[in-house]
Amino acid sequence: MGTEAFENVKKQIGYCGIWCGSCVVGNGTLRELTKKYETVIKNYGLEGWAPKDFDFKEFTKGLSSIQAMSLCLGCLEGGGRDNCEMKACASNKNISDCSQCDQPEACKNSEILQTMRTGAGNAGLFVKAKDVNPQELIKKWTAELKDKWPCSTLFLQ
Ligand code: SF4
Ligand code: SF4
Repeated sequence: MGTEAFENVKKQIGYCGIWCGSCVVGNGTLRELTKKYETVIKNYGLEGWAPKDFDFKEFTKGLSSIQAMSLCLGCLEGGGRDNCEMKACASNKNISDCSQCDQPEACKNSEILQTMRTGAGNAGLFVKAKDVNPQELIKKWTAELKDKWPCSTLFLQ
């Protein structure tokens, strides 16, 4: 079950604003989805009727290896990018994330910050870009997450 994984990341909003709770690698969804997918494939006996050029062994090896991947701990618990510029800068400023920055116009990391935020948004993660109450935001996002992953978010039952 992904419950434990989600519990670990659900309160973590990274310094750049990415909500770790919405990341499928950290919140356990990728692992759960892969496990379910593997079960469906086995139950349907795909190996017997898949196209001839389909390397079933390699495919199942890949599915196993995804399930064996360690879960990201989350940005605030040691996960995320090594030597992250935003992490270093925001913690030096003693703020919880870049949306609280008093000098965003002078940010020397603005390009990478934007890249991270846009990339995360494109991948379906939620990003805090405004200085709003994080607890309320997390509550709202958690409800949205239930709609987003209705058949796979076992951790939100
Ligand atoms: S490691 Fe950096 S880019 Fe990744 S979530 Fe944390 S602050 Fe954002
Ligand atoms: S200067 Fe840039 S990286 Fe640093 S806290 Fe402000 S917005 Fe974030």
